[in-house]
Amino acid sequence: MEIRGKTAVVTGGSRGIGRAIALRLASEGANIAIISSGSSDAAEKTALECQGSFGVKAGAYTLDVSDFSASKETVAKIKSELGSATILVNNAGITRDGLAAMTSESDFDAVIGTNLKGAFNMVRHMLGIFIRERQGCIVNISSVSGIIGNAGQCSYSASKAGLIGLTKSLAKELAPRGIRCNAVAPGFIKTDMTSGLDLERIEKAVPLGRLGSPEEVADAAVFLIKADYITGEVVRVDGGIAI
Ligand code: NDP
Repeated sequence: MEIRGKTAVVTGGSRGIGRAIALRLASEGANIAIISSGSSDAAEKTALECQGSFGVKAGAYTLDVSDFSASKETVAKIKSELGSATILVNNAGITRDGLAAMTSESDFDAVIGTNLKGAFNMVRHMLGIFIRERQGCIVNISSVSGIIGNAGQCSYSASKAGLIGLTKSLAKELAPRGIRCNAVAPGFIKTDMTSGLDLERIEKAVPLGRLGSPEEVADAAVFLIKADYITGEVVRVDGGIAI
């Protein structure tokens, strides 16, 4: 898909990987809607950077993506302010790590609600636009935890494996309408999410010997948006940790 002139919605675009994806899409000429749950200052800053550095339109929107009806309202607001978005990057994500025996119901629900249901909510409310525009492209940010599992991450791994199932089903269901859906599965990427981890130990475990950068995940997301003959694919960006 040609990116220039399109409108893209990036959930979790205020920080980390989402911010890098938003800036990369803006650099290629897309107007950008940045969704974040609470850090409206960071989201505003990213939106201003998209506008100032690349001359595109950009807006910051506060939304808890796990809220079905609020997601609908935000999609409508984005449409009226930035036009019909035909690119959706479901990147918003949280962790509530812990052993299964210690995981509370509310933590499990929060992780599935944001990471998996949040992606469904956005797709559900943007599909009408994609169908009317006769084009659309979805990239879901999953994780290697959703492919190989990870002790202490039962809720997170389940949500990210669920995203892969969602990706493949949507790819099959929407292909006849020319709408594609792919996923990126990052390994360990240097962001706020990994800042509390033992980075030295992780670097030793990664075959390529280092953590990835948000920009390296953005490269894969943008590649998939442009790749018109790829749908239902999951691209690992993990330095080889899930080989
Ligand atoms: P960060 O913690 O740096 O940023 C998370 C982003 O998601 C923020 O913009 C945050 O908004 C937003 N967000 C969280 N909850 C919600 C919600 N309920 N509604 C809307 N927005 C929300 O995360 P990363 O950049 O590290 O991760 C981005 C994605 O990549 C996540 O899905 C994560 O699971 C995945 N990933 C990350 C890896 C890593 O090593 N970092 C590895 C594998 C996958 P706010 O600023 O308002 O809090």
